[in-house]
Amino acid sequence: MLQAVVVGAGFSGIAAGVALKRAGLSFVILEKNDGVGGTWRDNTYPGAACDIPSHLYSFSFAPNPTWSRAYGGQPEILAYLERVTDTHGLRPHMRFSTRVDGATWDGACWTVRAGDQTFVARSLLLGNGALHVPSYPDIPGTFEGPSWHSARWNHAVDLRGKRVGVIGTGASAIQLVPEVAKQAAHLDVFQRTPPWIVPKRDRAMSAREQWALANLPGAHWLRRTGIYWALEARVLGFAFAPKLNELAEKLVHKHLAKQVADPALREQLTPAYRMGCKRVLISNDYYPALTRENVSLVTDRIEALEPRGVRVNGQLRELDAIIYASGFRVVDYLASMKIVAHGQDLNDVWMREHVRNYLGINVAGFPNLYLLMGPNTGLGHNSMIFMIEAQARYAVQAIQTMLRERIGYLDVTPEAERAFGDELRAKLKDTVWTSGCSSWYQAPDGQVLLWPGFTFDYWRRTRQVDLTAYHRGTVTGARTDRLAS
Ligand code: NAP
Repeated sequence: MLQAVVVGAGFSGIAAGVALKRAGLSFVILEKNDGVGGTWRDNTYPGAACDIPSHLYSFSFAPNPTWSRAYGGQPEILAYLERVTDTHGLRPHMRFSTRVDGATWDGACWTVRAGDQTFVARSLLLGNGALHVPSYPDIPGTFEGPSWHSARWNHAVDLRGKRVGVIGTGASAIQLVPEVAKQAAHLDVFQRTPPWIVPKRDRAMSAREQWALANLPGAHWLRRTGIYWALEARVLGFAFAPKLNELAEKLVHKHLAKQVADPALREQLTPAYRMGCKRVLISNDYYPALTRENVSLVTDRIEALEPRGVRVNGQLRELDAIIYASGFRVVDYLASMKIVAHGQDLNDVWMREHVRNYLGINVAGFPNLYLLMGPNTGLGHNSMIFMIEAQARYAVQAIQTMLRERIGYLDVTPEAERAFGDELRAKLKDTVWTSGCSSWYQAPDGQVLLWPGFTFDYWRRTRQVDLTAYHRGTVTGARTDRLAS
């Protein structure tokens, strides 16, 4: 039996793999695709790039001084993940094209099913990612031309000279719209809600800077730390001091005014909700793209898909291709996996009750299950890699503790889970995220799924596994008996 099965070979699965390997534990990483990278493998749309500076949006244990830009593009991030995988010898542990259907806890271990294969492990780490099942708007009718989702880019279609429609104006759309606008004969951007967009301080990293980051002691650390604190400060306005946020909103209005001269277009692009309630986006070229002759911003609802375009206000807008930049299905946090313990399916539990959890890592009643990028650990202000590393470290520390103390399982107590949930609700109450908007930051029942404070606080909370928060079980042969908690 393995010590751990990890699901997913994206940032989360790789972080977990490195931590497990360093601890000398036996494990496999199961990945549905044919390579590593997760979201950075899926999203190959033109313009795909990171919206957190790359020197921070990378592992603390694998610094990369040679990022070509302040904000690396998708091919460079994917290459980085491939490199980390190889450097840390993770490939022998990886099973590609292995889609996990589900896992069942039998009182002693998890049996993980993937097609006709099964893997048995003491612990299960889910690094399957929260945002990867495409969501399509529910619009009646049928379009007969090519259409695809931003995360499933159709590279076979040449957009040059075509009439293209992009539905959605979120993080993906604002990156791909400027690129598509350069190629298309005409581009319709269908907006439901305007996003808040701040300038992107992107630039090429010079050879001299790359050399300094690679060779001068402390240089990389200084850059990374500077970025960390600059981003961390943003949570002050989102969660603690709304006045700061109002100030930032004024600056963003100025950015919009500077880039868009037409007052009518500016009006359409001005958000009517508090900045930060949905993800704040960064771009220098999205607004200018919308001012191009060949681009129209359409803010009226799409009434229907037609064979040759879409119907808006009773009029046919003819299109040759439609791109859905309409985000991902949040309810499918576990995608199509069925995670079952004590006869309970985790998806059902969450749908029936709420997305309850402890530290975004454990769920009561699901022993030895560790979520990576789990609920209530998403961020609106800083790098997710920071959170992922904390979670991977925590899970591996828990596994090591079980081995050392001869514990068969750790199951977070309902009391610890409830106390964590109460704390979250109290902290989230007066934040910008509950100020009235909807996005993937919330579960369908409105529960905000972000971490409501400083990330260093999360780091502190996950530094040491607190055994008093868990029911513990002993292992007797194949059986596991509950110990007093
Ligand atoms: P998203 O932020 O959820 O945006 C989806 C867009 O589609 C929104 O504008 C939404 O409008 C619109 N939409 C959804 N359903 C619609 C409907 N039925 N009719 C009309 N419009 C509809 O999705 P995303 O842009 O793919 O980004 C998702 C997340 O992925 C981001 O927040 C970010 O965390 C991550 N991401 C990161 C990067 C990066 O740079 N690191 C890049 C891309 C994505 P409403 O606002 O009205 O709902």
